[in-house]
Amino acid sequence: MAEQGALHVCATPIGNLGDVTLRVLDALRDADVIAAEDTRVTRKLLSRYDIHTPLVAYHEHNSAEQTPRLLQRLAAGERIALVSDAGTPGISDPGARLVDACLAAGLHVDVLPGPSAIITALVASGLPTDAFYFGGFLPRKAGERSRALQALASLDATLVFYESPRRTAQTLDALAAAFPGRDGAMARELTKVHQEVVRGTIDEVARDVRDRELKGEVVVLVGPPLAEAAPVDERAIREAVDRRVGGGASRKDAIRETAAELGVARNTVYRIATERPDVPTSGTR
Ligand code: SAM
Repeated sequence: MAEQGALHVCATPIGNLGDVTLRVLDALRDADVIAAEDTRVTRKLLSRYDIHTPLVAYHEHNSAEQTPRLLQRLAAGERIALVSDAGTPGISDPGARLVDACLAAGLHVDVLPGPSAIITALVASGLPTDAFYFGGFLPRKAGERSRALQALASLDATLVFYESPRRTAQTLDALAAAFPGRDGAMARELTKVHQEVVRGTIDEVARDVRDRELKGEVVVLVGPPLAEAAPVDERAIREAVDRRVGGGASRKDAIRETAAELGVARNTVYRIATERPDVPTSGTR
């Protein structure tokens, strides 16, 4: 009986050839064939690690014909390693189709985790990571893009998008228009020599990038909606400051202690304590 074949989905570096796991190197070495999005790109990785497994192309333009061929080989007991140009196959590349077809055919799929530009950019951005939404590539047409962004407006999560360097400035402008004032970031050439992460409000990031000719690979990110400022109880602030000053504290200490006690920014306490509430003027009738 033929040995059970398996598709080994192998994550590969997104720039730095050192970012590859030992399991992935073993899988690439032991496979009968490697299905690669771009065989020239994968050859560089293989030559760095002295791996001589044969390659077959599996990309956007031949996946329809290649999928049944690869399924046949798997059914015959072959081990196939699937790699994309960079990162984790299946994330914004045709790998997901092959995985789906294998699962539908009852074939074994084994995912070997490793780099992906989403996670690298998210962590490098410094934006909240507890909830995030990955939107792949945004639509290119302005109307569709703006509708896609509006649909995400109330999502309480960091938004992550892939983008080409040519369209990055336009996309950042669209993000700044849709989400003014939010934090944002642009991460470029991650793990490579010219790695760059621009951070700031999304408006600042858009301004920074607007007149530059960007090169390389880019991820753009926007932080979650800004938290609504909690209403400040001005009377409680004045009373707390007056109480402390009445008890002998200096005005500066009274402001500092009140800010800590009520969890309000010190400059807000200062402003409220030094401004007096409007004194109602007498009626004109
Ligand atoms: N499968 C890949 C992954 O797991 O990240 C993504 C493939 S997608 C076709 C390619 C996009 O990923 C690029 O256009 C860019 O947005 C992003 N990307 C890949 N490598 C990157 C890097 N080193 N720095 C920044 N973005 C990168």
